[in-house]
Amino acid sequence: MAVTPRGTTPEPPDARPRLTVLSGPSGVGKSTVVAHMRKEHPEVWLSVSATTRKPRPGEQHGVHYFFVTDEEMDKLIANGELLEWAEFAGNRYGTPRAAVLERLDAGESVLLEIDLQGARQVRESMAEAHLVFLAPPSWEELVRRLTGRGTEPPEVIERRLDAAKIELAAEPEFDVTLVNTSVEDVARELLALMDVV
Ligand code: ADP
Ligand code: 5GP
Repeated sequence: MAVTPRGTTPEPPDARPRLTVLSGPSGVGKSTVVAHMRKEHPEVWLSVSATTRKPRPGEQHGVHYFFVTDEEMDKLIANGELLEWAEFAGNRYGTPRAAVLERLDAGESVLLEIDLQGARQVRESMAEAHLVFLAPPSWEELVRRLTGRGTEPPEVIERRLDAAKIELAAEPEFDVTLVNTSVEDVARELLALMDVV
């Protein structure tokens, strides 16, 4: 198969991991993989994060993110409304706690697409979380994808690549690694890990 987590095929664990965290360096293809997966399986529930980042063309409030001001983010943090939050490349991002807990209480699977710092916080607070790392086929390909996406100016790309070095080094902290060579293959692997198919 085209996608192998560092040499072996991932076995879905015995118990359904209801909370799955997908992380990996900026530009590796997390959003692309999740969008592909949800096109065929719209029942997969993805948490919508709050962020202080400005919307990219086409991004909708409440769909891709809740776009908030710095003051609004301060309040969300102060009121304990975020399950986790982190500063990433100059902006803050956080997972609204209530929506995630409601889904989990209802017995539904939950997917978070968050950065390394957030994944570490979720691991601390929710021991049952299943942490999945999305890796690029190579460093050169990661640079190509991040640059080719064309959504950030060069200085922001540099910050994201600096963060990517730290994120790549943290891969062993994760339960499973999927290499994003083919979007279709990775989406299928992720669905299998979430026990959706
Ligand atoms: P992330 O959400 O991890 O920051 P994106 O999903 O925005 O990354 O993907 C970054 C760029 O890489 C996009 O232009 C996307 O089309 C491209 N991309 C994603 N997955 C692949 C892949 N398997 N092969 C080639 N290009 C890809
Ligand atoms: P982007 O600006 O490219 O949408 O996201 C930048 C990084 O922030 C990505 O690694 C993405 O996974 C991460 N991110 C998105 N939402 C959250 C969140 O709620 N919490 C944390 N910790 N990271 C997030």
